[in-house]
Amino acid sequence: MNPEIKDALIRKLGKDKVKDDAETLRQFAGDITENPDGKPDLVVFAGFAEDVQNVLVEANRLKVPVVPVMANTNLGGLAVPVKGGVVLNLSGMNRILEVNEEDQYAQIEPGVTWEDMSEYLLKNHPKLRFAYPLSPPDTGVLPNFLMDGLANLSLRHGSASHWINGLEVVLPNGELLKTGHFAYGGLPCTRSPFPNLEGIFCGFAGTTGVVVKMSVQLWPEKKHRQRIFLMAYDVDHTFGFIKDLIREEIADDLGTLSLPTGKMLFGEYRPVYRDPAEPVLFAYMDYSSNFEFDLKSKRKIIDEILQRYRDRGAYFDGPLDIEDLVRLEPRFSKFTNFPTRLDFLLDHPGGGLTWVGTYGPMSRFEEGFKKGSEIMLRHGLPPVIVARPMQGGHFGVLRWITVFDLKDEQDCRKAAAVNRDLADMAVNLGFFPYKTPQWVWERYQDRLDPTFCRVVMNIKKTMDPQGIMNPGHLEL
Ligand SMILES: Cc1cc2nc3c(=O)[nH]c(=O)nc-3n(C[C@H](O)[C@H](O)[C@H](O)COP(=O)(O)OP(=O)(O)OC[C@H]3O[C@@H](n4cnc5c(N)ncnc54)[C@H](O)[C@@H]3O)c2cc1C
Repeated sequence: MNPEIKDALIRKLGKDKVKDDAETLRQFAGDITENPDGKPDLVVFAGFAEDVQNVLVEANRLKVPVVPVMANTNLGGLAVPVKGGVVLNLSGMNRILEVNEEDQYAQIEPGVTWEDMSEYLLKNHPKLRFAYPLSPPDTGVLPNFLMDGLANLSLRHGSASHWINGLEVVLPNGELLKTGHFAYGGLPCTRSPFPNLEGIFCGFAGTTGVVVKMSVQLWPEKKHRQRIFLMAYDVDHTFGFIKDLIREEIADDLGTLSLPTGKMLFGEYRPVYRDPAEPVLFAYMDYSSNFEFDLKSKRKIIDEILQRYRDRGAYFDGPLDIEDLVRLEPRFSKFTNFPTRLDFLLDHPGGGLTWVGTYGPMSRFEEGFKKGSEIMLRHGLPPVIVARPMQGGHFGVLRWITVFDLKDEQDCRKAAAVNRDLADMAVNLGFFPYKTPQWVWERYQDRLDPTFCRVVMNIKKTMDPQGIMNPGHLEL
């Protein structure tokens, strides 16, 4: 790294925002996945868009890599500074700049967390709701949208990049780009009818610019909300039931979790054993309405479809309302309200967490669930699996999760090996890993259309001719 950068940044931002002590550098070197750590040279704590502009102008002049980061929980190693340079921490830019209740949008900075949004809306705009993932509450909304994440309204509204109305982005040369209605100072309630410039920053892992403001969609809160749980003993029947149910378009969210996920909630570290009498997975679903009669009729439809499957020999326990479940077992309160912290995935003895999370066709859910379970068991790991339909069933999520010991090299290798086997299986089935780690791009390079690769690389080069933005990621 060009050593001039430190003094140049201190001159522009002040000493307090530029750190290179050993503890800070260690903190930003890696994440909780098996992806190897990098070696950052400096960490800059940005407070304002001007700070980001100053960093990029100097880094561009001196050809120093810049890695934007918020909470670094993407689980793909995407904010690991693999080529060193400046880690640009955006967590201090955490202002909710506007919530427009009538036009249903919020303008936020990159450091705003799910918890910030939830508390702010509850207090100031209880008529509006937002979509929450299973990510820890103190992680970033804006990076999640840029990575096209998934949340508890994704069954209705798709993945998160669809909910972006407009952006303000600091380009690698320091210029500020405004997209959508931001471009002329209008109300950022949609990105139509403008060219979709947001697409240059979604799925690009911070390699094309640093987003400093985003307008995101909000939706009307409903008076009555219900979350129910179902224990299921057969994969085919469960997914059949789910596919039938989503075609009724009554659920806000629907998800299935394999049994080991539940066992981990109850305190087991890596539960590989399943008693044949135990369920294979449990499903949860949310539905809501402003009218009680509507809520009741939704429940009737769920019961009716369930009965059809029971008549065919399927066995389910439930549905149970979440409140009843919590009364029986208080540890289920983790699933009562989102955002929530799934501490059993984070605070276990090994500290490591990784996954292959994929988007693909729901028609292959059953096969992916079963093959993934076999692969994980073959590696001696519990099949911790999440499956969720998205956007009315147009596609779905299959995610295979591994907890491991970050300090044990052999365990890290095992986590990497199972991820590769799972990804091979998933890609062959027609699923592709989201929040895509570099190893995935490399592994399936030969399957990617060469023109796709060339266009992606040309976009990156046009936006960032010096190649300073998050180098080592999204390299095709
Ligand atoms: C237990 C657990 C459960 C999770 N569940 C879910 C889930 O249900 N759904 C889901 O979608 N995700 C989930 N996640 C993943 C992750 O927590 C979320 O996606 C989170 O919102 C990401 O925010 P972050 O602040 O950690 O982003 P970071 O990891 O800091 O950043 C992500 C990427 O965006 C880039 N970036 C960050 N800020 C900017 C910016 N301003 N401009 C340009 N690029 C930028 C970074 O360089 C990096 O490439 C989960 C994670 C954990 C640990």
